[in-house]
Amino acid sequence: MKYISTRDNIKAVSGIEAIKSGMVPQGGLFIPKEIPAISHQQLDSWMNLSYTQLAQKIFQLFLADDFSEKEITQIVHQAYHKENFTTEEITPLTRLNDQLFLLELFHGPTGAFKDIALQALPLILSLIIKKLSINNQLLILVATSGDTGKAALEGFKNIPGIQIVVYFPFQKVSRVQEWQMLTTEGNNTHVIALEGNFDDCQNAVKQIFTDADFCRMLEKKGFEFSSANSINWGRLFPQIVYYFYAYLYLLRKKHIRHNETINFVVPTGNFGNILAAWYAKEMGLPIEKLICASNINKVLTDFFNSGVYDINRPLVTTISPSMDILISNNLERFLFEISGRQGEFIVKLMKDLREKGMFILEESLKNKMREIIFASFADETETLSTIKSVYHEYHYLVDPHTAVGIKVFTGYQRISTQKTKTVITATATPFKFNKAVLTALIGEVRDHKKEEFILLQKLSNYTDLPIPAMLRDLDKKPIKKQFICPKDKVQQCLLEILKIE
Ligand SMILES: *Cc1c(COP(=O)(O)O)cnc(C)c1O
Repeated sequence: MKYISTRDNIKAVSGIEAIKSGMVPQGGLFIPKEIPAISHQQLDSWMNLSYTQLAQKIFQLFLADDFSEKEITQIVHQAYHKENFTTEEITPLTRLNDQLFLLELFHGPTGAFKDIALQALPLILSLIIKKLSINNQLLILVATSGDTGKAALEGFKNIPGIQIVVYFPFQKVSRVQEWQMLTTEGNNTHVIALEGNFDDCQNAVKQIFTDADFCRMLEKKGFEFSSANSINWGRLFPQIVYYFYAYLYLLRKKHIRHNETINFVVPTGNFGNILAAWYAKEMGLPIEKLICASNINKVLTDFFNSGVYDINRPLVTTISPSMDILISNNLERFLFEISGRQGEFIVKLMKDLREKGMFILEESLKNKMREIIFASFADETETLSTIKSVYHEYHYLVDPHTAVGIKVFTGYQRISTQKTKTVITATATPFKFNKAVLTALIGEVRDHKKEEFILLQKLSNYTDLPIPAMLRDLDKKPIKKQFICPKDKVQQCLLEILKIE
């Protein structure tokens, strides 16, 4: 498989090149030149595969030109191993009622869905380093709204030839998320608290990537950049696997018939997770609607409903912080695909976004998107009340992001005449957001610094659920000193943390 740019500004490159670079140096994102097609027969033949076996099939589709079958087998077995995930199913499903299922994506080492791609990507990059005999250190820059950071740090820690630097928005992630990052071990892991919001973190990374002089200077010092954000295609395709897995599970358990279409609900921030679902649909998975759920930072909801993408609004910090995003990077890939792969058109939209903070789609394109995507949002009060009602009705505890998805689905159900089976991606363990979850269950809780760990215990006692292993003794681990970086000193901070003179 070759990879092209969403802005038509490069010749097609190999998968190795696309994943190593992370993003197109001239601007733009890599996407596969062709979208592989899976026939109904092929899909049926995959019905009894384990998660790992299915991952092997799907990884093969995207990596076969660059990696041998043996190498791919090694990657999926090492990534989706029972030492890394608390269940051999990797992404088990839970039935809530006749229509609704939850796809639990939080059984990995850091308790959020990012683990699924970030257990595989470091192994892929590590092989790439060997294949290309790269002598430089690969410098992975990651912007995080909370969950990606820890998942990337865990995935990349102690991998030879790689240094990883994570930028998170100072004081804008949950206490548990912050501690998770600052307690990461490994001799190659670095964490920076940026004075700004997530969009600032994302811009900081992009700014470094596209500053040719700075890159050249670092190259002389023996560093080469890559990205572990979902702008890297290597983050996206591993996520396609669990959409197939969910469908095949429902088929195997006879909840659906052959070729029956289902919906997926995806709590969305950077548009990465839902984009993986869209690729699954394009590959032939029988999907009816993709339901895009936002919190009150509802740029995407407004976009899908009006055709106007407008970031001229304040970014609000919410109880679902991993979705506190105004610029959804992966939308660029979706717009490229839905417009019939017109690079020039994307260049124009991105120019408008940069210069005016907005772009507008014509009516016909808007309607085309809406055939596939339904978008809505949940505010803070609705999110809290959903956590509570789901807990009381089903005795199932959801995190605030998943609750946003459930609330949006309830709204969709009211206007839809069909009873299509629906899978909601449960994107994080509720214990990562215990303050919000406890507030939902028992009302206002006090928030003192270290108290979030007392809350963890409290939530466990209240629900009779064990604290997930990855969060259990977090407060007893040695913690790195906060490295706080002003927004306008991004490059200096990077040099400082890497001890580059
Ligand atoms: C990252 C994240 C999201 C948003 O996913 P995108 O791929 O950025 O759209 C939703 N929920 C949780 C818990 C996350 O960590």
